[in-house]
Amino acid sequence: MNQSVEQLRVRLACAFRWAARLDLHESIANHFSVAVSGDGRDFLINPYGKHFSRIRASDLLLVNADDPASLDCPDAPDITAMALHGALHRNQPHARCILHTHSKYATALACLADSRLPPIEQNAMRFFERVVIDDGFDGMGLGDEAERVSHLLAGKPILLMGNHGLLVAAPTVAQAFDDLYYFERACETYLTALATGRPLRIASDDIARKTCRQWLDYPGFADKHFNALMGMLDEEEPGYRL
Ligand SMILES: [Zn+2]
Repeated sequence: MNQSVEQLRVRLACAFRWAARLDLHESIANHFSVAVSGDGRDFLINPYGKHFSRIRASDLLLVNADDPASLDCPDAPDITAMALHGALHRNQPHARCILHTHSKYATALACLADSRLPPIEQNAMRFFERVVIDDGFDGMGLGDEAERVSHLLAGKPILLMGNHGLLVAAPTVAQAFDDLYYFERACETYLTALATGRPLRIASDDIARKTCRQWLDYPGFADKHFNALMGMLDEEEPGYRL
């Protein structure tokens, strides 16, 4: 289903509000974007300085990946946000929605020397062979660093950014948010299990691959999840739609 720019604004605002509710955000940093043009170069992104918990659909900025003047508008995006999301929307046009967070557990995993997520339960298996680990952190996401990162995704939904955080890319806002939610949950479970110091129950590659496939074939899950989240916001804080 192709969504209008107005629908995309509302859905991305919902993603921001729920990221704050679930404590996936970090202060006024981190950034979410969604492409609105066919080539992906026109996209919506959050303004610098606005807390995720207060973002409304109309607050989101419509910017262009090739236009430096996008940083001249009032409440322009954070410069690292514009560099990173601009490079990604330019170089990965299939990645329509891009969510970047420093969420607690995914970032903790990104701080380990071995940042792989082993298939120890269903949520982790959902991401089996679907995570790219960036071992090349080279400072804040500006210029060359943003360009470098933008070429790493290789068609996968999760980029675990070593020494940094998490980036999720998906064809829709609902899919991206569902991946963000489940990846963070999987990291929380893994690190909690790891903290016991006891041996992990790691599934075979075959079982992990099969379970991943079952997740991907599950009908309409991400949309149902996201619709449920929107329904709760509609009841409890409908101002996000404004
Ligand atoms: Zn970051």
